[in-house]
Amino acid sequence: MGRFDGRVAVITGAARGIGFGTAQRFASEGARVAVLDLDEASARKSAAALPGADHPRTSHLGLGCDVSDAASVDAAVERVVSELGGLHILVNNAGITRDNLLFKMTEQDWDSVIGVHLRGAFLMTRAAQKHFVAQKYGKILNLSSTSALGNRGQANYSAAKMGIQGFTRTLGIELGPYGINANAVAPGFIATEMTDATAERLGLPVEEFRKLSADANPVRRVGFPEDIAAAAAFLCSDEASYITGQTLYVDGGARLD
Ligand code: NAP
Repeated sequence: MGRFDGRVAVITGAARGIGFGTAQRFASEGARVAVLDLDEASARKSAAALPGADHPRTSHLGLGCDVSDAASVDAAVERVVSELGGLHILVNNAGITRDNLLFKMTEQDWDSVIGVHLRGAFLMTRAAQKHFVAQKYGKILNLSSTSALGNRGQANYSAAKMGIQGFTRTLGIELGPYGINANAVAPGFIATEMTDATAERLGLPVEEFRKLSADANPVRRVGFPEDIAAAAAFLCSDEASYITGQTLYVDGGARLD
């Protein structure tokens, strides 16, 4: 018996990185997973690589979806419900960075980051909660970040990630009476293409950038998608049904330094 037997989970931005790691974990614990990502071909490829993908009862779904677009979100959520037979878990993971110091940050850099993280989480949650409320059951997990606490060059991203924490607290209050839990995880440095792109922007080789981060971390390593997936699986399981509105920092203690 897996913790997610009989459950359907939608994970946005799950073609790679933390989203894919979380999809692997949820699928390995019995969930049928809808992998949503901008590029449908990548989403399908990742869905086909998940545990249980070749079994008819546990097959998964890969869909193209832009989380910042209401029509795209509503269509994707309806397809998940009709093709996978329901919806029980939503992970708002899709994300982008458009880093720059404030005086060089364009309105487009601001709008696109707020659009994917905050508007995206809002649109996906609004579409999913209809189903959650009707069945009096649902789990929502939002991706925040240690950058919510402030990070040079990330005014847009930091504002979005702290906004996610306020959004999560409010979901906890509004949706708690309907059997729905909403929590957030705030990762520190996780080795993915997102942090590899930051290394490139700073002109550092990826391995050197990861080593610098690991050396500065109390547990002396960087994080991996599996670290976030483990926390996500707990918070989306019924073992965490008395936890809602919370943000769990999964950062090797980086925030404590
Ligand atoms: P990633 O490797 O860059 O993956 C993000 C995925 O989201 C990509 O597949 C991307 O697709 C997709 N995406 C972007 N815009 C989208 C949209 N509008 N609609 C649907 N999908 C979209 O990033 P990651 O490192 O795994 O990060 C995942 C989440 O964790 C993000 O919310 C991020 O902010 C958060 N986080 C990451 C770290 C870290 O250190 N990596 C730390 C704290 C928080 P394309 O490739 O097509 O753009």
